[in-house]
Amino acid sequence: MLPFPDSRWLVPFDDSFRHDRAPTEPPPGSPDEQALEEELERLTERLEKLQRRFRADGRRALLVIVQALDAAGKDGTIRAVLRGLDPAGCQVTSFGVPSKEELDHDFLWRCVHHLPPRGVIGVFNRSWYEEVLAVRVHPQFLGPQRIEVPEDPEELWAWRLQAIREQELHLSRSGTLVLKLWLKVGKEEQRKRLLARLEDPDRNWKFNARDVEERKHWDDYHEAFEQALRATSRPWAPWYCVPADDKDYMRVQVARLLVDALELLDPRYPDLDDAERAERSALRKALRA
Ligand code: ATP
Ligand code: MG
Repeated sequence: MLPFPDSRWLVPFDDSFRHDRAPTEPPPGSPDEQALEEELERLTERLEKLQRRFRADGRRALLVIVQALDAAGKDGTIRAVLRGLDPAGCQVTSFGVPSKEELDHDFLWRCVHHLPPRGVIGVFNRSWYEEVLAVRVHPQFLGPQRIEVPEDPEELWAWRLQAIREQELHLSRSGTLVLKLWLKVGKEEQRKRLLARLEDPDRNWKFNARDVEERKHWDDYHEAFEQALRATSRPWAPWYCVPADDKDYMRVQVARLLVDALELLDPRYPDLDDAERAERSALRKALRA
């Protein structure tokens, strides 16, 4: 089993997670904005060094799944935490409404397609979890999937959660460390951010009228998140529920999780054996001559 970072935001593996007990605000006494920015700077520098070794090591992959309601700050967090990394060693994939081709396959397929190879940090901005979140809240999305829905639709969500759990176990056994983040934003903070998208011309493009509509399903989404996290937070693919109301605080938490994860994996530059060493020494001499 691959090691995973411990954190106060870790979602327990024993089915006890309660969404209403998971905060959206930083704990009291958290560092101020400037201290957080400095901390993020330190962590991203550390991450950059670790990533170099991670790429060279090439035995493991890291998959970070980011899920959240609209305007919780997925894009900004991914940008802030990955800045400074070697772009050749990371890949970010966003999953929106599925395409015709994607709907012609099973629900895991489109994500499997984009899994990071060994040595690479892959980030999923949304993921197969949409299938037990957005689709669960809006069962009409099942229509275009043309699957057989059991008489008791609850069974379908249980099947899907099992499929995800097993897929993630398979990934872990194949050398991919899977970390999952729920960036949990509060309803009032989301309202402010959606308003800012409406009012600020530079953010207007991000505004989607559907996001306001989706707020009506707030409780259903939280219920679906709770069930998904309970069913799939496991030692081989833990969930972390990170408070998202303060962006600086959230970014530091996410960066720290990534740094801790890579440190635990302890990537190393590959060792040369005696024959390789001798060969390189001969090549060095030849190049010098
Ligand atoms: P932001 O969070 O910044 O608003 P975004 O991630 O919402 O960005 P969009 O392309 O606007 O980016 O939204 C993706 C939309 O696709 C979401 O509303 C999501 O619920 C929907 N979606 C994702 N996966 C599925 C799926 N499998 N079936 C139906 N809808 C999906
Ligand atoms: Mg959106």
